[in-house]
Amino acid sequence: MATKKLVVIIKNPSNDEEFLLLKQTRPPKFGDEEYDSYVDSDLWDLPSAQLNLLDGESESESRIAVEGEELCSEKLNLSKFDLNLAINQVLAQVGFGTSGGIQWKLRKCVEEPEFGPGVPLQTVYIIGKFGPEDAILQELCKWMSIQSCLNWLSDVKPSSDRVGPLVVVGFLNDLTQSAKWKIPHTFPLQEYPPGVKILPMGSRTAKPFRTTNLVVFAPENVSDDYGDNSFVAHGEALIVDPGCRSEFHKELMEIIAALPRKLIVFVTHHHNDHVDGLSIVQKSNPNAILLAHENTIRRIRKDDWSLGKTLVSGAEEICIGGQRVKVIFAPGHTDGHMALLHVSSHSLIVGDHCVGQGSALLDITSGGNMSEYFKTTYKFMELSPHALIPMHGRVNLWPKHMLCGYLKNRRSRESSILKAIENGAKTLFDIVAHTYSDVDRSLWIPAASNVRLHVDHLAQQNKLPKEFPVEKFQTTCGWHFLSRWLWAYLNSGFPLKYQKPRTAKMLGAVAMAGFAILYYLVRNN
Ligand SMILES: [Zn+2]
Ligand SMILES: [Zn+2]
Repeated sequence: MATKKLVVIIKNPSNDEEFLLLKQTRPPKFGDEEYDSYVDSDLWDLPSAQLNLLDGESESESRIAVEGEELCSEKLNLSKFDLNLAINQVLAQVGFGTSGGIQWKLRKCVEEPEFGPGVPLQTVYIIGKFGPEDAILQELCKWMSIQSCLNWLSDVKPSSDRVGPLVVVGFLNDLTQSAKWKIPHTFPLQEYPPGVKILPMGSRTAKPFRTTNLVVFAPENVSDDYGDNSFVAHGEALIVDPGCRSEFHKELMEIIAALPRKLIVFVTHHHNDHVDGLSIVQKSNPNAILLAHENTIRRIRKDDWSLGKTLVSGAEEICIGGQRVKVIFAPGHTDGHMALLHVSSHSLIVGDHCVGQGSALLDITSGGNMSEYFKTTYKFMELSPHALIPMHGRVNLWPKHMLCGYLKNRRSRESSILKAIENGAKTLFDIVAHTYSDVDRSLWIPAASNVRLHVDHLAQQNKLPKEFPVEKFQTTCGWHFLSRWLWAYLNSGFPLKYQKPRTAKMLGAVAMAGFAILYYLVRNN
């Protein structure tokens, strides 16, 4: 069951070209001077409200009618939802009077691809023409033409106002669809900002996610005039992180076949859920060139990629169809982790540095480093991106806010780790058990990786108490931790009141523990 949303396109009665945009509410402040000093620019989008199911058995007689609503009834039966409430909520947001006498028409119904981990979003767009009774707009509203929205979206300055995805996905994409490089319809995608297509594809990723976003960039008007020759690579299309599971390789093959042959394949880092489709890309287009950091390339198996490759270390620029994409070294998650900035839309593809929801894990087995992670987070904020595109989950529209949230979360974990150490915890297990006491014990294994990196970070900052035996602590990070965790895990799974744990359950737990140990040793997210 998807979440439903009503989006209202209000056309200006005195100018047919224009429709109403509403300044979007910012996420709440942190109440911290540093974090609150990083402010994202204003975001303008179509007004919208959540659609809730009608609770009564009878439909209201005065229900607002929408011309053509039957056209989306297969996907969403509007008559089951409280349309009046949603429309009135929108009108209250924009400060207009009641909706009496307005002719509403269905514009379209959009199903969001499955970004996860929550349910997908279904959006119904309706359109009507009217303005405020006194013809004066509130400060939060403005009339905008399609052309000015396109100008805002295609020539972005770091701190300029932004146009949101409801305008783009529900309105502009129909008008600006590329006819040249059409991705087959087998895979649902989202295009925001315009020109940047995001396809969540099933992958071997870590829970709660199930997909990795394949980012595809293939400008319509390919320019042969590449200007100066300082670009590290030229192409007519770019794909980022083809990491889908083998079940989706057929679809990936179709996507590659639909794209121009001059293809650049960029990989943010080497984890399986980012490279599992590489061999298929190579097979479908042997001329494609792989771009990645050398620490990533050396971890990619020859079977996955053996042909053309170019090493990048950050600060290089790639030219795709005459447009610029900047490579940004972004270590922290791994030591070869990279991000990409699409210059004209100023959107930042962040790899696994951030995920659509929750916090990111760092990979201690591949050079993950907390100090680098903090530095990269600040580097991203200095760029003032207009949108963050993670490889798992939805696009984030409040980049600085999200990045500050990550800083805050990591710092608060670090201070509770320090507190555990000051209270006498000396082993990895004791610190994890103290810091993550409220978290399911099955998640303590990946959490332990982050704890080790936090302890390293505390040591670098000379924050650890003198009596904390760092070297002894290191010796408790292997089997010592695993054996104690296994004992704790089994005890939590079988409370003492169950005197006769069933063999199958016990075997299940042991298998899970074995899996977790394996995961710990060869983590490959
Ligand atoms: Zn990943
Ligand atoms: Zn990863």
